Amino acid sequence: MRILVVEDDPDLRRQLAGALSQAGYAVDLAADGEDGHFLGDTEPYDAVILDLGLPKLDGVSVLERWRADGKDFPVLILTARDRWSEKVAGFDAGADDYLTKPFYTEELLARLRALLRRAAGHSAAALEAGALRVDTRAARASVNGDPIKLTAHEYRVLSYLMHHQGRVVPRTELVEHIYDQDFDRDSNTIEVFIGRLRKKIGSDRILTERGLGYRLVIPENEQRVAGQAI
Ligand code: CA
Repeated sequence: MRILVVEDDPDLRRQLAGALSQAGYAVDLAADGEDGHFLGDTEPYDAVILDLGLPKLDGVSVLERWRADGKDFPVLILTARDRWSEKVAGFDAGADDYLTKPFYTEELLARLRALLRRAAGHSAAALEAGALRVDTRAARASVNGDPIKLTAHEYRVLSYLMHHQGRVVPRTELVEHIYDQDFDRDSNTIEVFIGRLRKKIGSDRILTERGLGYRLVIPENEQRVAGQAI
């Protein structure tokens, strides 16, 4: 999952970048409203963290422009304390959630996970596909309860496919959602990641749809078990 952070306070920006990448996200940063608007307009983010008090273009205007252009990624706004009217303007402009500064990083990460899940149509905190489980809180995966050791990029690929399980995800889409802007993107490495993931979680969980992309599925022998759950 790829996140955009638009925040003019350099310390907070650095802190958010560190916490988000540690939590397994690809992160892009913008220090003012114009840069932030441009990135959100041109790159496909899974969610955006948007400060409202920004130089060059304020956060509410940035959000209004994105929404007017049909950008529907979830947006969490950051507001200064006792600026309740700002919060209202933010929601009216299309924000999905907010946090008032100062806030705990843990709360921001929890709200972000909830936004990403909702955007993907899931409500449970852990994502499951048969015996495969991805715990987005700990950025960990397991099969039948056995933990799977994944690199940061493998985790991002798996997490993105899990959020979109059952759907064919084109390789280019995967590339756009697992690398940050500055990364030297090579779509061939995706195949390498998929190959390694299959070795680790089982080869029948990620299907290649030739010419289209990848699809994460529940293997046939686990489907009946899932159906008996209730
Ligand atoms: Ca600010």
